[in-house]
Amino acid sequence: MRALITGGAGFIGSHLSEALLDAGHHVLVLDNLSTGSIDNISHLKGQPRFEYFIDSVDNEPLLAELVDRSDVVFHLAAAVGVKLIVEQPVHTIETNVHGTEVVLKHANKKKKLVIIASTSEVYGKSTDVPFREDSDLVLGPTPKHRWAYACSKAIDEFLALAYWKERKLPVIIVRFFNTVGPRQTGQYGMVIPNFVCQALANQPITVFGDGTQSRAFAHVHDVVGAVLKLVGEPAAVGQVINIGNTEEVSMRELAERVRELSGSTSPVTFVPYDQAYEAGFEDMPRRVPDLTKVKAMIGYEPRHSLDDILVQVIEYFRKK
Ligand code: UDP
Repeated sequence: MRALITGGAGFIGSHLSEALLDAGHHVLVLDNLSTGSIDNISHLKGQPRFEYFIDSVDNEPLLAELVDRSDVVFHLAAAVGVKLIVEQPVHTIETNVHGTEVVLKHANKKKKLVIIASTSEVYGKSTDVPFREDSDLVLGPTPKHRWAYACSKAIDEFLALAYWKERKLPVIIVRFFNTVGPRQTGQYGMVIPNFVCQALANQPITVFGDGTQSRAFAHVHDVVGAVLKLVGEPAAVGQVINIGNTEEVSMRELAERVRELSGSTSPVTFVPYDQAYEAGFEDMPRRVPDLTKVKAMIGYEPRHSLDDILVQVIEYFRKK
């Protein structure tokens, strides 16, 4: 098949490009390099089944042409990373809402299957852990910019499901939970690359808040593998599906593990949220997926433990 990946030069997009090429498919990447990087796809450039376009999904004539040439569209282009979202809320809302709007509009013309990359952030402040796809979404108030990300992604989900219901456009919505691995940058605030870079430089590892908040991290290869299987699964169409890992870890414990596995002498320091992000910042205390649905659908089983992930990321940054 020929696949269009918006955001294909991003962290997840570049791994997805690689996996599709390895499986013998054609890949068209559309990426404006806002948070993606040409370095992520430079090793793919020479491949005959790979093409890339450095442009935005806002370029509708180009988007229309690329959608037309594709059998399936993976829509990954988005503003991501809590730090970026807090610093650039206008960009976040416009990119996430408008991008999905135009991708769905053009895919609908010839009913091309669209995979919408959503996020566990949509569960917001819910404490009903583990999060199931049919759980309520609990967002904070609008003056707290963090929630603009969840809200923009929730709108994307509503719109995609509306296209499916009303216009029979096949869509699959995947909610990614803290996807990590080689090539992820710490530039937009993501915790694992940040901790690893701090540890390798023997600088203080900055745990935000009191470090009791927890996450469950999934290796990008597990996540991409699940996405590819879902594309071949008719029962996935019109569905919202969690993808992640259930190995929960607190940020305090994560800092200790990074320090230990990297052989670092860094001290672990605690930075108040107000200083790390902005005054009144709200974090979520726990975030773990319920994976019942994806397991039943495609027999998904994450293969990488947190320690595997950390060892690989440490190795990646050491080489870099
Ligand atoms: N975090 C941290 N130190 C950092 C970066 C992030 O303690 O240098 C915390 C952050 O406050 C959150 C968790 O790590 O509680 C995960 O943050 P990330 O931005 O990676 O993903 P999120 O789950 O917030 O989308």
